[in-house]
This record gives sequence, structure tokens and C-alpha cells, in this order.
Amino acid sequence: MTGGLITGIVALVAAVAVVAPGASAGSVRAVRASAASSPASAHLIVASTTDPATGGYWLTATDGGVFSFGASFEGSAGGLALQAPVVGMASTVDGLGYRQVASDGGIFAYGDASFLGSMGGLPLNQPVVAMAAMPDGNGYWLVAADGGIFAFGDAPFLGSMGGRPLNRPIVGMANTPDGQGYWLVASDGGIFAYGDARFQGSTGNLVLSSPVVGIAPDGQSGGYRLVAADGGVFCFGAPFAGSAVGLLHRAAVSIDEWASGYRVVSTDGSVYAFGGAPFLGSVSVPPLVGQVVTIDPGHDGGNGSDPAFINQTIDGGGFAESCDTSGTSDVNGYPEHAFTFDVTIRLAATLSAGGATVVLTRSNDTGVGPCVNTRAAIGNAARSDAAISIHGDGGPSGGSGFAVDVPVPVVSAISDNRTIVAPSGALGNDVRDYFLADTGLHVSNYAGVNGIVPRADLAGLDLSTVPKVLIECGNMQNPGDTSVMEDAGWRQRAAQGLADGITAFLVQREVP
Ligand code: ZN
Repeated sequence: MTGGLITGIVALVAAVAVVAPGASAGSVRAVRASAASSPASAHLIVASTTDPATGGYWLTATDGGVFSFGASFEGSAGGLALQAPVVGMASTVDGLGYRQVASDGGIFAYGDASFLGSMGGLPLNQPVVAMAAMPDGNGYWLVAADGGIFAFGDAPFLGSMGGRPLNRPIVGMANTPDGQGYWLVASDGGIFAYGDARFQGSTGNLVLSSPVVGIAPDGQSGGYRLVAADGGVFCFGAPFAGSAVGLLHRAAVSIDEWASGYRVVSTDGSVYAFGGAPFLGSVSVPPLVGQVVTIDPGHDGGNGSDPAFINQTIDGGGFAESCDTSGTSDVNGYPEHAFTFDVTIRLAATLSAGGATVVLTRSNDTGVGPCVNTRAAIGNAARSDAAISIHGDGGPSGGSGFAVDVPVPVVSAISDNRTIVAPSGALGNDVRDYFLADTGLHVSNYAGVNGIVPRADLAGLDLSTVPKVLIECGNMQNPGDTSVMEDAGWRQRAAQGLADGITAFLVQREVP
């Protein structure tokens, strides 16, 4: 699931990370760079750029990190505290310099690429999404999502979509070889051509299964190619040599060209090379970078000490529910809240190691609350890509096994969970499958069907606006279940099963 997988598209060449210390920075915002290029990034890759002198390439990450493959490393913004994420990059014609652009229009220039002005600090109607550079090295353009063009140095302003209505946002830009024209591309594949850039077709009239995310000119044919997030490549006036559909683990983000070939790059730093463009290496970004997961360990250690708080009535989404309970405990006195918190800490560590941003609804096992509606609100406020509540059941002593509660559509005066029902179901299936495989515990023999229980009566699911499930990891009233739930090694496997299920769900959703 990590980056760097190439499946025999072209001859593979050993990764070459060219590292050069120092850099001459010509920007008021650029700082002499010290970051070395590396094959690993803790941030998503956002752009790729061909070295026009060698056919090598650079990848750049949202934090400004630069990764060089068969191209000269001249510095990066990777060590800076950026005001806004880097979104684009363009090189000079000799390959001995390049510029990065951030979404606020800030420019970072390295090597022989000069700083000629930026939009950093100036108000923008829409964020900058891409850049292109003059072949003479003395100018560049920035393009914003609304189609606004900002030209610097000797880069000519030849027209823009700024101020005109767009069906879809602009996502990319490419210039012609002489720098006297450029194309803009929107996420629906619509093409806007200016100057000597010829319109040779678009996907604007097609129904795409996946949005367009980038454009690259073809220097030999004068045409251009578009890439969609699923790795699909659309060629206009330029030869087709293959696509990355079905190969990606994360969404495609960029396309660059060389010798009538091209490379598709995905956010995890994988590089897929076609035609004459060589593969020279890739970047490894952990699979969950950019993903937010909220973990809700059921109950809390202090709940029993504050019945007035815990028994207060909350709106669970059209019905009255108590704030929370103290939870159950097993025959040996092992409390549910301790179990859920222990599994949560293990799960958080595993997800964090995969690059995820993890949010917890409580940070210790000695407090009171929060109420179940607040727990849902925490996951919502974090804009979680997935959320999970962890429990141990207090079921009939003769019943055993684990079960995953999934939401059904519930609309109330304060909530509407309909959009999360389908993805939550998918999340529930993945969690069920991996929990089963990793723990060896069977699915519940007293609740639900095949380990899945649709529930309309849980505030945590009714009030969620993000994909969410609740797992009863086992029945704490059953001697067989508690014998494993009390075992730290089993709880680690339980956390691994939850992490694997959540990861499978998130990665599957990544390639649109
Ligand atoms: Zn519980």
C-alpha cells in the first residue's frame, strides 16, 4: 500500500536521488535550502516536473519538500513553516533551477530560477492551483482555481477566465514551447487555450468517472495530455502510450512529459512511466497521510462518579437518550472503559504510524464524559474520513463474538445521517473482515447478521456526518470472550484488525 509500485510498464531504473547541498535562492520568501531530497515523505505529493535537460524529474510535496530523480536538487521549502501548502512547480530550461508555488501565490525559487514576483500576502479570490514557466527562464504564470492568471517577468498575459463563470474549477496549466501561449484545464477536462496554444480537444463534453487533475504539453507534437484522478490519460494531438487506471493506490495528481512519453504521479509519490519517459524512482508516502480518523473509546473511568452528568438527557437524533453510561465490566471486574481506552491507544498508534491524523474523543481513562452526542460532534468537527466507537458488550452470558453496528438513515430536527449510511456500511464490512481475520474471534452469535447490526437508536451513529461505525469487540459477560479481551496481546491484534479495516476502507476511497 505504500508508494513506489511500478508494474512493468517500462524498463525500471534504479532510483537516483540527486542531492546537492545548498542553493542560491532568489526570492524574498525563499530561504537558502538545507533539506535534502529523500525517498520518503510524510506529506502528500502534489506535483511533478520534468527536467528538460535530462528527462529526469522532480516531485514536490505539500510541505514544499522536493524529491529529485535524475535531476538536480537545488533546494526546497521543505524545512520552512509555510503559510499555505505548495501546489505546483516549474523548472528552468537547463534544469538547474525551479520554482514552487503555494496556494496563497507565494513563490519559492531555487538554483538558477529567479524570483520575479508573487501573490504571497496579496488577496486572492481563489487559491492558486498550478504554475508554468517561460522557456527562457525569465518569467512564469500562476493560475488560480477561478481561472485567474498572474504573469510575472517576461511571461505574457494572454487572457484568463478570471471573473467569468466556470462549470468546474481550473486545476492545471501548461505553456507552449515558445512561451507565447498556454492552456488551462478544468476538473471536468474543459480546455481554455490562449495565445499560440491551439485547442485540440477536451473532455469537457464527456461524463468523466473521475475528475481531471493535471495537464502536460507534448513538446514533440504540440499537443497535450490530461490526467484524471483515477490515472486515466486523455491525449489530444499527442500520442497515447497507456494509462494508470487500475494501478493506483492513491489519487493521481500530476502528469509530466518527456520524449513523447509521460509519467503519471499519485499523491503517495508513486510514479507510473509510459512511452519514452523513464522511471527513475519514486517517493514513499505512508498510506494514511492526509486522512483523519476519530476514535471514540466508549464510556470513561469517572462516569460512575457523576450520575447527574451521565444520566442527563440528550437529543440522540429525534429521540431522548442518556448522556452515557458507566459501561459494563467482566466477571473479574475488568471494566469496559479500560478495555476501550486500551484498544484505542493501540489503534491510535497504529494509524498514526500509517500517517493518519488521529482524533480521540477522550484523552484519558479517569474523566467523566463527554456525552455520546458530543463524541459524534468531535468526529464531525474534525472532518474525519472515518470514525469508530469502540465498546465491549454487556450481552447475554451465553452469547459470544463481536459485532459492528452500522447506521441506518435517520433524519431529525437536529441531524441527517443519510449521506454516511453507504460509506459507513462499507467501513463496517471492512472492519468486520479484518477484525475477524486478525483476532480470530467469531462474529456475534446473538446480534446482527454475519457480524453486522444496522442500528437506528444510537446517537453516535444518528448524529454523525462522517462515515462511522461502532464495534462491540466481544461480550464482556461471556467467559470465553473476556478471557481474550483481558489479554494484552489479543487487544493488540484487535487494534491491528481495526486499523487494517479502516485502512482498507480509506485506501479504497482514495482512487475516485
Ligand atoms: Zn459500551
